[in-house]
Order: sequence, then C-alpha cells, then structure tokens
Amino acid sequence: MVVYLVGAGPGDPDLITLKAIKALKKADVVVYDRLANEEILTHAEDAKLIYVGKKAGEHYKKQDEINQILIDQAKQHEVVVRLKGGDPFVFGRGGEEMLALLEEGIYVEFIPGVTSAIGVPTSAGLPVTHRGVATSLTIVTGHEDPTKSNKQVKWDFKADTIVILMGVGLLEENTKEIMKYKDPKTPVCVIENGTSPEQKIITGTLENITQNHINTPALVIVGHVVDVYKEALDKR
Ligand code: SAH
Repeated sequence: MVVYLVGAGPGDPDLITLKAIKALKKADVVVYDRLANEEILTHAEDAKLIYVGKKAGEHYKKQDEINQILIDQAKQHEVVVRLKGGDPFVFGRGGEEMLALLEEGIYVEFIPGVTSAIGVPTSAGLPVTHRGVATSLTIVTGHEDPTKSNKQVKWDFKADTIVILMGVGLLEENTKEIMKYKDPKTPVCVIENGTSPEQKIITGTLENITQNHINTPALVIVGHVVDVYKEALDKR
C-alpha cells in the first residue's frame, strides 16, 4: 500500500505534472476535493473516485474524517492517490494528512504541484519577483482558522510581494492591517479563476481594491510587481 500526496496544479488541466499523471494512471482509488477542472480525473481511468470536498448545502468533511478515509482506503488498496489543488503542502492541509498516514505505518510519497500562489500570477504575466522591484515574496492565508484564539498572521511582512490565498472573505480587514505597514497606494492585483477560461483580473491599490466585486477562487497580489504586470500589458 502506498498513498501518493499529489498536487493537481492551479486549474488548467495541462498544468499537472507528468509524475502526477503516472500516479493517477496506476491508482486504485483517488480521493479528491473540489478541483477547478475535473478533466484531470480522466487520467485515473478505472480508479474508484472518492469526493471529500464541499457538497451543495453540506459542510466540508472534517479533516479527521478525511484522514480516516485515506487510512481505510490505504489499508484496502495497493495505490491510493490523494489529489489536491495546486501544491499539496501549500495551505492544503497535506502535512496533516501525511502525519496521520505515517502514524498508521502507511507508506507515503509526495508529488508536488504548481501552486496557485505562483502559477496563477505567472500564467497572467505577473512576475512575483522582479529585479530592482521585488526581491522577496510572502505567501499568506487571508483566512486563518477562525477558531484559533492566538492569530499567527501579523501582516507586518517585510517581503516586497505578498500573495494572499483564501483572501476574498476578509479582504477589507486584511488590507486595513497591511496599510498599517505599507503605503495605501501600494498596487494590488486580484486574479479570479486563474488559468481557466473564466479568469478575471482586477487591479487597484490597497485603499481601493475592496470597491470591486470579487468571485472565488481568487488570490490577491500586493506589491510593485503589479506595476511590472501593467507595464507588460501595455506592450502586448
Ligand atoms: N494548495 C493550493 C492552495 C489551497 S488554498 C495551491 O497550492 O494552490 C485555496 C486558495 O488558493 C483559494 O482560496 C485561492 O486563494 C487560491 N486559488 C487556488 N486556485 C486558484 C485559481 N485557479 N485562481 C485563483 N486563486 C486560486
């Protein structure tokens, strides 16, 4: 028995790795959550597909329920693929799944994916670092576990570029926090449904970006690299 923890990439089904496709082809079971594009599952050929994402009108499965499903499937089958959007270890709770499986003595292998944090801006022509503009990058969740009493995110980042995942719901609160440390005129770019045909790009500044209606999934890029994107757009 082996469980492959696999990244599916940011949405566009062509942005999955060859290694992930090979794992899907030999899978007996694929455990997946909501994927931007289900075409990726066609690589799994005749594997059993188990959906553990959100269903209309229902809540997400709890993480310990998902861990248990993975453990049970691993004990019954030779090859289980746990497929997750983007990269499995970037805000995917992949680390928790890895630890739960190892605890049970289950063999785990890891296949990285193109994380939306970098792959979405790159696909849009927005470099997250740029010589003379941004030499550092922070990737942060905009939606820290609301049940946590001690918030870890302080928003006083030193990095030149900030990429916020899960950042739509609390964008107003979070931009206010960032403005305590960065100029309110700092450029901001929001990319909705990145790498898909529904992709939409909105630009603004820390002080005015919340005036837009934003659909999910979306990520938020804060920093002067947004000006590099705009400069390139003018030249296209
Ligand atoms: N493991 C994933 C991230 C999971 S958190 C990864 O590496 O990409 C989910 C968040 O990722 C969403 O709330 C959104 O902020 C971002 N995201 C994922 N896919 C996206 C897409 N196609 N376009 C824009 N943002 C996306």
